[in-house]
Amino acid sequence: MKHDYWQRCSAWWLGSRDKPFEYTHHALLLVGGGLHLVAAVFNLALETAEANYAISMLMLVPLYLFFWYQSRWCGRFQIMAVAFNFLFVLFNLPLNWFFNGGSAGPTLMFYLIGLVYITVVLRSLGRVQRALQLLFLLVPVLLLLVEQQYPHWVYPYPNEQVRQWDLVFSYFVTAVCVLILVNNYGRRYQLERDRATALAEQLRLLAERDTLTGLFNRRAMEQSYQAWQGQPFCVALMDLDHFKRLNDTFGHAYGDEVLKRFAELAQKVATPLQAVAGRHGGEEFVLLIPGEIAIAEQCLIQLRQQLYAIDLLHGVVTFSGGIVQACEEESLDHALHRADLLLYAAKEQGRDRVLIETHTSHTAPRQEESAESMA
Ligand code: GH3
Ligand code: MG
Ligand code: MG
Repeated sequence: MKHDYWQRCSAWWLGSRDKPFEYTHHALLLVGGGLHLVAAVFNLALETAEANYAISMLMLVPLYLFFWYQSRWCGRFQIMAVAFNFLFVLFNLPLNWFFNGGSAGPTLMFYLIGLVYITVVLRSLGRVQRALQLLFLLVPVLLLLVEQQYPHWVYPYPNEQVRQWDLVFSYFVTAVCVLILVNNYGRRYQLERDRATALAEQLRLLAERDTLTGLFNRRAMEQSYQAWQGQPFCVALMDLDHFKRLNDTFGHAYGDEVLKRFAELAQKVATPLQAVAGRHGGEEFVLLIPGEIAIAEQCLIQLRQQLYAIDLLHGVVTFSGGIVQACEEESLDHALHRADLLLYAAKEQGRDRVLIETHTSHTAPRQEESAESMA
């Protein structure tokens, strides 16, 4: 419950965690704004900088909020992030340099975190990102040269102890920023990896599944067929009867619906037998069924009965089929060819029946001798 509240609260301030760069940017803007506030008070209290500097820091707080508001609520993340970084590198940090001890103060640490920030968060900005990187590298050098030329421009710390405290405070600021950056970069990496895994899975499905029915396609059937070599299994080829007529009479969409329903039934009878169901093309389907031919025969009897029983809008659809036992070292094409001869015979004999091979051989059996009707 408490966790939920925290999540809702952080989502309101920082946006979705699924956009880690925006999330990081908003977190850093708000933390930055808050720290400016604290630092202004800190500087005023300890007199580590001029009052004018503390006041100008206070004035930056509404600006930070403006950047946050525009990015968080007006969808202007990129432009606001770029504007903020230019302001940061060319105005905030030079100001910090001169009012906070120059090269002896914490500004270099802030330049470093700024550089890391734009490198991580503004990755997609190409040239703008590189320009900012260059500025984050060069401006401190320029500031150092100016400081060496005009040392009196730098507001010194009142004493060494204050300088040490300022450095430690700035170290904590930098550490918080580093933690936010690293955490969200890790989150981004994880999101990208999850997305890549999901895409790879989608690709795998696309590569091995038929898009209409979701059954295995020809390529995947070939793989299963090869993997099953060395164990007894059967190949059943099935073809819906008078499917062209059905398409012509009730439309292609209805034909598709029938194909999907048939595929569902084929998958349903295949699953308990650990058989593999595939679409051979058009209105032809294949089942690879482990075991002897009697098991495959039972499987197709079941499928016929279930096809009679389903409630199709325009009445009963039937199929014809042929079953053969796969032979050792026989190719899938050859086994399918044998099954196709039986299927052809089944069509010849009047359709709505399945023929099985009564003996197996590498050559195609003469159908009238070897085929046996189970209709
Ligand atoms: P038979 O009983 O001899 O098998 O006759 P048939 O009409 O089923 O066979 P034929 O090969 O003449 O027709 C097959 C039809 O299947 C023709 C084609 O339009 C249709 N078909 C092929 N693929 C699809 C598909 O993905 N969706 C739909 N709706 N129809 C398809
Ligand atoms: Mg056909
Ligand atoms: Mg047909």
